[in-house]
Amino acid sequence: HSTTKPPPNPSPLRSAKFFQANMRILVTGGAGFIGSHLVDKLMENEKNEVIVVDNYFTGSKDNLRQWIGHPRFELIRHDVTEPLLIEVDQIYHLACPASPIFYKYNPVKTIKTNVIGTLNMLGLAKRVGARILLTSTSEVYGDPLVHPQDESYWGNVNPIGVRSCYDEGKRVAETLMFDYHRQHGIEIRIARIFNTYGPRMNIDDGRVVSNFIAQAIRDEPLTVQSPGTQTRSFCYVSDMVDGLIRLMQGNNTGPINIGNPGEFTMIELAENVKELINPKVEIISVENTPDDPRQRKPDITKAKELLGWEPKIKLREGLPLMEEDFLKRLGIARTN
Ligand code: NAD
Ligand code: UDP
Ligand code: UDP
Repeated sequence: HSTTKPPPNPSPLRSAKFFQANMRILVTGGAGFIGSHLVDKLMENEKNEVIVVDNYFTGSKDNLRQWIGHPRFELIRHDVTEPLLIEVDQIYHLACPASPIFYKYNPVKTIKTNVIGTLNMLGLAKRVGARILLTSTSEVYGDPLVHPQDESYWGNVNPIGVRSCYDEGKRVAETLMFDYHRQHGIEIRIARIFNTYGPRMNIDDGRVVSNFIAQAIRDEPLTVQSPGTQTRSFCYVSDMVDGLIRLMQGNNTGPINIGNPGEFTMIELAENVKELINPKVEIISVENTPDDPRQRKPDITKAKELLGWEPKIKLREGLPLMEEDFLKRLGIARTN
């Protein structure tokens, strides 16, 4: 009968490992709007270690200030069009400007980010055996001839238009994801994100919800781009982040639409902003940009069935939350 010996002193390496997080997660584009909210959510779980990679083209360190210096958090200035050698278990690949003004500003860079950036992240996923999620977009449906859009629809996209760097770029990114999956067995997840809004959007980034709220706060006319009958469906950012995490953790490759099926014309959106935020503000019609999709509304049957996900926050609940954030960032005291 052997006597019980005290366990040997754990080696420094082993004890370091003991304190290591169970899951090391890379978020590309994590300094941006959706990325920073995703980081907040992932950091809530003490088992996660989060690494953000961002070139700060449209994102900002300020969005992550609460995590800088945290032992489970790391921020790397890096452009995803360059190779990246790190060790991770999961990759949320968001890096890419999302506002038309920014993605059209340097279209060649946008397509490089979508194609070479996604290729690099897939190469990384292949080398380390990580699961990778791509944030694709409803723009892959182009100016859709099917309404609402479900994932089986192949889209109606202009390959040579001013939006192509973004929508064709994301289509190639989806192709790369599936080719790496079929050819190399990489675990992939594809989310097709529909218009998302919420706190931390760039105040002047040109997207419609941020434009209208900033205009209403500044007593400037709400600029509805003609004809104003075009529709979009707006998802609040906390719902979006919840959907992305469920998709990553589940067993389905996708593509899966993640968005809020509540559909509004731009005139209706302007009227809601006017009523909720500044009843005195004027609504004017201005010229539109080329190839603007006329309608967009997600069919979210797949997300409901496969992820048990559906959005909770209605547009009229989300708009005031965003107003509050914009007032704070603009340093304006609420007057009503
Ligand atoms: P965002 O512009 O706020 O964030 C994008 C982030 O990527 C920024 O921090 C930016 O600096 C970074 N980035 C851009 N190019 C990079 C590069 N080459 N290397 C490293 N970092 C780079 O946009 P967002 O609204 O948070 O969108 C995030 C993702 O979701 C994007 O992939 C976008 O295509 C997708 N998406 C967003 C929406 C939406 O409504 N917001 C809709 C559909 C899809
Ligand atoms: N890559 C990367 N990080 C890695 C592994 C690969 O950035 O850890 C890049 C690599 O530089 C290449 C791309 O990912 O440009 C695709 O890699 P893969 O190994 O699939 O292809 P190959 O290098 O054989 O072309
Ligand atoms: N839009 C608008 N006024 C603005 C900005 C945009 O009416 O100040 C319209 C635009 O024409 C489009 C819709 O709002 O029909 C959504 O545009 P956004 O740039 O927000 O996103 P998109 O869905 O086009 O990527």
